[in-house]
Amino acid sequence: MRLSNRCYAVTGLGYAAPWCVNSGFVVGNSLTLIVDTAGNALAAQTIYGYASAARPGNQLRVINTEKHFDHIGGNGVFRRRGIDVWGHVGIARTFDEFQAEITEFNDAIPNPARRTRGEARAFFHGTHLINPNRPIDCDTQFDLGGCTAEILLTPGHTATNLSVWVPDDEVLFTGDCLISEYLPNLEAGTPADWQVWLESLKRIESLKPAIVVAGHGPVARGDDVQVIVDTVRRVLEESIARGYSPTADGEG
Ligand SMILES: [Zn+2]
Repeated sequence: MRLSNRCYAVTGLGYAAPWCVNSGFVVGNSLTLIVDTAGNALAAQTIYGYASAARPGNQLRVINTEKHFDHIGGNGVFRRRGIDVWGHVGIARTFDEFQAEITEFNDAIPNPARRTRGEARAFFHGTHLINPNRPIDCDTQFDLGGCTAEILLTPGHTATNLSVWVPDDEVLFTGDCLISEYLPNLEAGTPADWQVWLESLKRIESLKPAIVVAGHGPVARGDDVQVIVDTVRRVLEESIARGYSPTADGEG
């Protein structure tokens, strides 16, 4: 969907239920920046199709907002076309980690016939683990031609999280630093990481975005932006006080 003059969201891409995942892109006069490649090659082909149709002559570039497979799984679709994939230097996933993700997907299939058939392989058809080929470890700006995209490190959910801010359009892509409707996933970190996450929320808030594309869930606009920031902050503060995540079993 078109969000603003330059910015688009590609929402509702498939992942392990109940999660679907978001992607998006920013169209400059010469460069189109794609934010995340979703979880598999089929979703990445959809993102590629929309992003290349928005301004067909543009060069394409990808940025990953974090290391989890639901945001980087489609990287191979872009690298195969010679498109650079930028991302935090800490995104260095291994083949074994990716295989474990596929196994976990398959084990979660409720129907025994489909589970026995290994239908997780259908979800990941044509999907190969590809890490970013342009690692970054500090804030960065991309000149897209007539438009700037600011890459801001916003760690907490993982140490690799970053956000993409388009000041001209007041649009912010946050990856999983913000989550809309779902409970945020705190289980990749510890209470110390959640403190870092709170600092990232302050940073995001200070930008005063008009529109936020979170990593998961509906796009937030206007007053809803503050609602999703406040919701994630409250979950983090409660979890820090309690010492464990709301989705943990209580043992920590
Ligand atoms: Zn995610």
